Amino acid sequence: MDLKKLVAELEAKNPAQPLYIQAAKEVLETIADFVNANPKYDKYAIVERVLEPERIVKFKVTWVNDRGEIQINRGYRVQHNMAIGPYKGGLRFHKTVTEDTMKFLAFEQTFKNSLTTLPMGGGKGGSDFDPTGKSEAEVMRFCQAFMTELQKYIGPETDVPAGDIGVGGREIGFMYGQYKRLRGEHVGVLTGKGLEWGGSLIRPEATGFGATYFLQGMLAQKGDSIKGKRVALSGFGNVAWGAALKLAELGAKVVTISGPDGYIIDEDGISTTEKIAYMDELLQTRNNVVAPFAQKFPSAKFIAGKKPWEAKVDIAMPCAIQNELTEEDAKTLIANGAKYVVEVSNMGCTAEAVTVLQQAQVAFAPGKAANAGGVATSGLEMSQNAMKLSWTAAEVDEKLNGIMNSIHDNCVKYGKEPNGYINYVKGANIAGFIKVADAMIAQGIAY
Ligand code: GLU
Repeated sequence: MDLKKLVAELEAKNPAQPLYIQAAKEVLETIADFVNANPKYDKYAIVERVLEPERIVKFKVTWVNDRGEIQINRGYRVQHNMAIGPYKGGLRFHKTVTEDTMKFLAFEQTFKNSLTTLPMGGGKGGSDFDPTGKSEAEVMRFCQAFMTELQKYIGPETDVPAGDIGVGGREIGFMYGQYKRLRGEHVGVLTGKGLEWGGSLIRPEATGFGATYFLQGMLAQKGDSIKGKRVALSGFGNVAWGAALKLAELGAKVVTISGPDGYIIDEDGISTTEKIAYMDELLQTRNNVVAPFAQKFPSAKFIAGKKPWEAKVDIAMPCAIQNELTEEDAKTLIANGAKYVVEVSNMGCTAEAVTVLQQAQVAFAPGKAANAGGVATSGLEMSQNAMKLSWTAAEVDEKLNGIMNSIHDNCVKYGKEPNGYINYVKGANIAGFIKVADAMIAQGIAY
C-alpha cells in the first residue's frame, strides 16, 4: 500500500471529517509495514475497502417536549463492516454527535470487535439529542421516535445496537419496548438490556472491569502490579464507575473523577462503596456536573474548569470522550511521573498526545483494545440470548477476563518493538485488521 497516497485520498474523500481522518490515519500508519509484507491485502484492495463504511443511514427524529414544542434531531446508524459478524456497536446521544463522530466510532468498532475474538462486525449510531436536563417522559418520547425509524435497519442477525454516552439501561429499555411494540418480537436486537428481560450480568460493569484487566496485563508485562498505584480517572459515568469498582477491589487508589464542569481530587481515594455508589447517583440526576461530589465528601476537593491530568498519578485512564487528553496533558502527566495511560473512552487521546506518550516510552493502550470489554460482554449477552439461558456473574466475569488477556497477548504479539517497548496501538490495529481482512478476502468482492 502507498501510505502517502492513501492518506491523501482519505483526506480528499472525507472533507470536514477530522475525527474520521484521525482514526483512519492512525490505522493506516500502523498497519502499512504489515500490509506491505503481505501482498494479498493489496491484491484484493482490502485497505481501500475497509476505509469505506458499507452503509450510512441518516434520519430525522421528530418528537414533542414537555412544553408541547416540536423538536427535531438527527439520527444515524453507520454500518461499517459486516465481514466477521452482524454489525455491532453502541448508540451515543450527545450534543456533539455528527456524521463524522459516528463514522470514526464505527470504524474503531470494527477493529475492536475483531479483537474480542467474538463474531461481531462494526457499527455505531446515535443522535445529537442532548439528554442533559431532559425529563424521563421527554427521554422516552425521544427514544420511541428514534427507534421507530432505526428499527427498519436493525435485527438480531443483522445489526445489534447497545449503549454509549447518554444511552444507559433506561434508554435501552425505552428503545427495546418500542422495537417490540412495532415488530411484535422479543429478540436480542439490543444489548445492555435489563436482567429480567434478556440482559447479562456484569454488562454494566464490563467496560471498566475489562479496562482494569487490560491494565493488569500491561503492569504484569513490566513486572509491576496494581496494588497501591495512584490512578486518575476522568468522567463519572458508567465506564469510570466500573473502573473505580475494580480498581478499588484490586487495591489501587483512584484520586480523581471529572465532569464537564471540572474535576474532583480526593486524597483519601474514591474507593469506598459509598463514594462509588454516589458516582452513579450523580449520573442519574442527569445534570452532567461532578461538583456536588465535593459537597458530599469532605476529603474531596472540586477544581473548577480543569482536567484531572494535572494530578500526580502513576496511571491515567481517560473515561469520558474523544480527544479529552491533549499533547499538553500528556506532557504534564509525564513530568509528574505517570507510567501508564489507558484509554477507556474511544480515541480519548489526541494523535499528538499518543506520539508524546510513546516517545517517552509510557505504556499506552488505545481504546479499541482497552475498552473492548464492554462490547465483548455484549457479545456474551448475544450468546446467552441465542441459547435462551443466562450465565452467572462469575461465568461472565471469567470469560471477560479471558478475552481481555487474549487482546493483551495479541497486542504484544504484533506490537513488540526491538527495544522491548510494546506499541499497543500498532499491535491492536494489526491484530484487529487481520481477521477482518482475511474474512473479506474469503468472501469475495462483496463489499
Ligand atoms: N459503546 C460501547 C463501545 O464503544 C459498547 C458497544 C456495544 O456493547 O455494542 O464499544
